[in-house]
Amino acid sequence: MLQRTPLFSILLLYIRKATIFALIAFVLNSITAGPSMAVEKSAPPERQVITSGWSYHWGDLPTNPLTKQWEYIDAEWTPTSTPGDIPGRTNEKIVWLKIDLPSNGWRDPYLFVSSIDLTVQAFQDGQQIYHFGDIDAEGNSHFEGWPWHIIRLPSNYLQHSLYLRVYSDYPYIGLSGEISIGDRFSLLDEVYSRGVAGLSFILIVLLVGIISTIMGSIKQDRGAAICTGLLSFNLALMMFAENELSQVVWFNPLCWRYIAAFCYFLIPGFLAGIVLVWCKDKTPKVAYGVLLVTALFTLGVASLSAFTSFNFVNAYPYFDVLFIILVLSLVMGCFKQFKQLGMPGILMTFGIMMLFISLLLDMLSAHDLIDWIGHSGQWGLVAFTLTSLAIYLVQDWKQQIALATLTEHLEAEVEVRTRELQSNKKQLEQLAREDFLTSLLNRRAFSELAMVEVSNAIRYERSLSLLLFDLDHFKDINDQYGHSVGDLVLKAIASTTKETCREGDLICRYGGEEFVILLHATDSDYAQILADRLREAINKIKVNTNDLNVTITASFGLICLNKPEQFEESSEQLLEKLLAAADKLMYEVKVSGRDAIKVCELKPNIGPKTQVN
Ligand code: GH3
Ligand code: MG
Ligand code: MG
Repeated sequence: MLQRTPLFSILLLYIRKATIFALIAFVLNSITAGPSMAVEKSAPPERQVITSGWSYHWGDLPTNPLTKQWEYIDAEWTPTSTPGDIPGRTNEKIVWLKIDLPSNGWRDPYLFVSSIDLTVQAFQDGQQIYHFGDIDAEGNSHFEGWPWHIIRLPSNYLQHSLYLRVYSDYPYIGLSGEISIGDRFSLLDEVYSRGVAGLSFILIVLLVGIISTIMGSIKQDRGAAICTGLLSFNLALMMFAENELSQVVWFNPLCWRYIAAFCYFLIPGFLAGIVLVWCKDKTPKVAYGVLLVTALFTLGVASLSAFTSFNFVNAYPYFDVLFIILVLSLVMGCFKQFKQLGMPGILMTFGIMMLFISLLLDMLSAHDLIDWIGHSGQWGLVAFTLTSLAIYLVQDWKQQIALATLTEHLEAEVEVRTRELQSNKKQLEQLAREDFLTSLLNRRAFSELAMVEVSNAIRYERSLSLLLFDLDHFKDINDQYGHSVGDLVLKAIASTTKETCREGDLICRYGGEEFVILLHATDSDYAQILADRLREAINKIKVNTNDLNVTITASFGLICLNKPEQFEESSEQLLEKLLAAADKLMYEVKVSGRDAIKVCELKPNIGPKTQVN
């Protein structure tokens, strides 16, 4: 099986994420492609945008005292290029607008108006044909929301001008956005298409909000997840409240306007929240300020419109100015912290600026300072939510890299430690089996290995010899030259023995100055040669101390087993027998004058036959 490297796993993770996002983008693209095609299909000549032909009259028209009908014809009308930004308003809350509508032979003619500030009555041929909101006898009305309007025109509309009586106590008065005339179906098709296009933006914002929240929750980054998620949901709700389709779903323009307004008022607060969460280490004070001002403003407007005659819609122009101040001060105040954050900081600045520009364009278009932009401003909102997600991905990527590096580091560390442990273990095992002074096998290790050799000798019918020797008068060496010289002698004996014996012979320091060698596959003849050679080599050892030469001799007991297979004893018993016999022989040498070898062949049930060299 292929082993995955951390980098490979990260790449795989990102390919998976990219695929999911590509799929989402494809689905959304399909959604947005649908309506735009529909727009192309249902384009004029079914509808015609009205760009001229307006006249206005400030204040109410005079009424006929007999019929109580408005005196349209004799009134003074001033031509204007637009029915929205009407010049010369003093304190009037009512303006009359007049238009001669064009003809295009529509079967079912309707007039479409994107938005009206604020309430309206439409008259034709002396008849009220439409109204939105009520204007009382004193000429007063109140805000009812900003829906789009579709006004049915009578079949003879060409012979009679259309008169609109508009009421507003808002800074703006009149009609705004797009005004068009056409068949009902084509007008509705156009407005629904715009609504569906807007919905796709909402869907992206909503999806990104959900993904950001889930990602944040998974990464235990609750604060950032909640703030980003809440802002995305807030933006999506605001976008839907302002969407053409919201009034189709539920015709309550005032309620939708409340939702849109308060969602809009809360945006700087959510932005400040996100900034505070992301810049946890060094929280910028300006963000607290923005949060406080947003909270105070929203609460203030909510209380004023709940308990006084103040209309929340009049807070819009003030908030537009406040919004610019708050967002710009937030970006400028946090610029240093954003720079320190690196890539996420740059993305955050970009996202906030996108959101700011898009809302600024919306604002300018609402104030008639630029052309009506419809949903095009919502790209900024989408860009903002996408950058929020990108911040998560960058953070995630950074964490994955850090994690991979840490894992690599830990793995390397573990490997080093394991190698150290293994070598320590080996050393310990060696120490447990070795004599610390001579590095020869100690008695325990010798017993284990010798037992295996004896049983192999029995099984494979191989001869075996055991040589045991003890240094002569070693106590005297210690006494005469000191213990350290004694140690040197013991080391010299060990190395001489190793040099004399063959590879594979088991050499052991059996006691203080007593050594034992198990000679495998060695019969009595060869063992005797080896014992002689060793005795001579020991005699030749020269240990220099204070220019005095220490001469060493040893007494040897050699026991040979030429036919081990003939023995009935176990290998353990046989080894014990060999050791005892060799010790006995060595003792006999000691008694008979030392520095000699006594050899004996061990035979089953027959006593040892000895021979002294
Ligand atoms: P013999 O010829 O009868 O064997 O006499 P010996 O002096 O060699 O025997 P004895 O048993 O009287 O003395 C053995 C001495 O070996 C006593 C002890 O101090 C010394 N010895 C044992 N182990 C060590 C060691 O590791 N280093 C040193 N320097 N001396 C040791
Ligand atoms: Mg001795
Ligand atoms: Mg001894």
